[in-house]
Amino acid sequence: MYFGCHLSASRGYCAMIRQAMAMDADTFAFFTRNPRGSRSKKEDPTDSTAAVQMLRLGNFGPVVAHGAYTMNLCTAKPEDRAFAAEILADDLRRMAAIPGNFYNIHPGSHVGQGTEQGIEQIAQALRRAMEPDYPVVVLLETMAGKGSEVGSRFEELRAILDAVGRDDLGVCLDTCHVYDAGYDIKNDLDGVLEEFDRVIGLKRLKALHLNDTKNPFCSHKDRHEKIGEGFLGEETFARIVHHPKLWGKPMILETPNELDGYTREIALLRALHNNFI
Ligand code: FE
Ligand code: FE
Ligand code: ZN
Repeated sequence: MYFGCHLSASRGYCAMIRQAMAMDADTFAFFTRNPRGSRSKKEDPTDSTAAVQMLRLGNFGPVVAHGAYTMNLCTAKPEDRAFAAEILADDLRRMAAIPGNFYNIHPGSHVGQGTEQGIEQIAQALRRAMEPDYPVVVLLETMAGKGSEVGSRFEELRAILDAVGRDDLGVCLDTCHVYDAGYDIKNDLDGVLEEFDRVIGLKRLKALHLNDTKNPFCSHKDRHEKIGEGFLGEETFARIVHHPKLWGKPMILETPNELDGYTREIALLRALHNNFI
């Protein structure tokens, strides 16, 4: 099991790794570019080369980069879609500088075009952007089903995986989102994981986002809460960090916290995992 949180990428990979180590984290997440815009940082090969070493020596699990929220692969206007696809391709190329890690994206919002059309457009963008033998695994995030988001049903993610047809495409399960989408991980974690396995296949599950939720079951709102302070509650996370089917996966916090709050939550997850609580 690897635990970490979302960190600022503004000072580069090595700075994030040092920050993660200081927090007793052995994975982390970061935005590949300004989350709201599309600007990305200048690449720094010295930083990425050192980072690859540091990640290995520090026994880190895969890190889980996050694509920009604004990157919508199934937006209605063809020129906007082409721009999103360009960003995707550029991000994947950048991720190749730190091989073997994960790049997570929100599949997209179909903005009234319909789920089927959305799925086709997302799959097309991925097919074009993912080069053969790229050293990065792309993850589709399970979504809350806010607005016209694609990917709140496991079946929709399965359809994208099928349409892309590549083994290096996986899924990142966000605990707040799946609960919001109507998968009851609070009362039936086993059942949800069985359904995930039946529909998508557990071998596709590569990482988790651990977030509590400000809203009750099936709200489709997507508002994260601190671990134990929302509707999921600490016990749900205790079961998650103990679940044999989830062993060895990077688990990333995206809770409303500053660094000290994240440090406490990482310690809490480790304690839950080690049965100290
Ligand atoms: Fe996300
Ligand atoms: Fe998430
Ligand atoms: Zn969210």
